[in-house]
Amino acid sequence: MEIKRLNDWGIFDNHPVFMVGPCSVETPEQLDNTVGELARLGFKIIRGGVWKPRTRPNSFEGLGSIALPWIQEVQSKYNVQFAIEVASPYHVEEALEHGIRVFWIGARSTVNPFTVQEIANSLKGIDVPVFVKNPVNPDLALWIGALERINQAGITRLGAIHRGFSNFNDKVYRNSPTWQIPLELKTRYPQIPLLNDPSHISGRRDLILPVSQMALDLNFDGFIIESHIDPDKAWSDSAQQLTPSDLAGLIQQLQTRIPSVDNPFLESQLEIIRGHIDEVDRELLEILSRRMKLVEKAGEYKKLNNVAIFQMERWKKVFESRPEWAKALQINPEFVKELFDIIHSESIRKQEEIMEVKNKGSHS
Ligand code: PEP
Ligand code: MN
Repeated sequence: MEIKRLNDWGIFDNHPVFMVGPCSVETPEQLDNTVGELARLGFKIIRGGVWKPRTRPNSFEGLGSIALPWIQEVQSKYNVQFAIEVASPYHVEEALEHGIRVFWIGARSTVNPFTVQEIANSLKGIDVPVFVKNPVNPDLALWIGALERINQAGITRLGAIHRGFSNFNDKVYRNSPTWQIPLELKTRYPQIPLLNDPSHISGRRDLILPVSQMALDLNFDGFIIESHIDPDKAWSDSAQQLTPSDLAGLIQQLQTRIPSVDNPFLESQLEIIRGHIDEVDRELLEILSRRMKLVEKAGEYKKLNNVAIFQMERWKKVFESRPEWAKALQINPEFVKELFDIIHSESIRKQEEIMEVKNKGSHS
């Protein structure tokens, strides 16, 4: 893939880069007040939804084309560039006609190769920056496929946006960050600029700072963040939007770290620590292997005595005690809960395997 570095896009001059603005364009006043304030704070690329993909009908689905002339006006009034989500060739055409020159493809469009291909076809011969958000489901191949389709249409100012993934039971995030997916994308395609969308990952204001800091620590190239002049009155995503001044304050709190180490002393210290980590990981696996052997033994007894694999009482005890033990060891109990969930699923799978082998054996 031929892809231009962010510095060569001609629209970003700082690092990390920022695209900020309201979830949706609502009224000429809301737009003017928000963009005016953001421009005063130095932001140059403004986001704003015109066509909104909403999960349920009868919620605010964006104003559509009537918002485009207002956008055109604030672009020239405040000397900023607008970025919007496009989900069809019609959106692309309408936006281009109104002087909008930065696009992104939303998470619900990325999942559909037909949609992405249609948008890609409509972009052929048009040299605009395009970002592709990750699909709602945690599927890296689908994300890469969408980036390839847009790139094959000739778009070289191409970037990816990590906005998290839908989930059933994440109690913290609106969309689970599942950081290993964007990191895998970065490892495979280091040339693709990668932005983080802490607003849609968090779903609530207080998480935006820690999520953004995490992204920065993982060497993301920038952010797309929602900002509204009066967040509590926003027509969509009210809980996650920040006022322009809160946004500026938040950005000031972000700690930039050096992306790579070129200090030989620090490097050698890190190497020593990493060596110890490797040893500990091996020990962890040896202990895990001992645990699995015990689980197998318990499985054999259950089989012999015709006892069900899943014992509710026992699991309740495990699930209650481990996070408590973790606390005493200063380990995050939530993390330990998740860890034991995985360990428990694997233990059940292992015992089912034992039952099956035995069952097959007894029939032969
Ligand atoms: C948005 O950025 O306004 C949006 C709808 O996001 P996503 O496609 O990530 O849900
Ligand atoms: Mn939104």
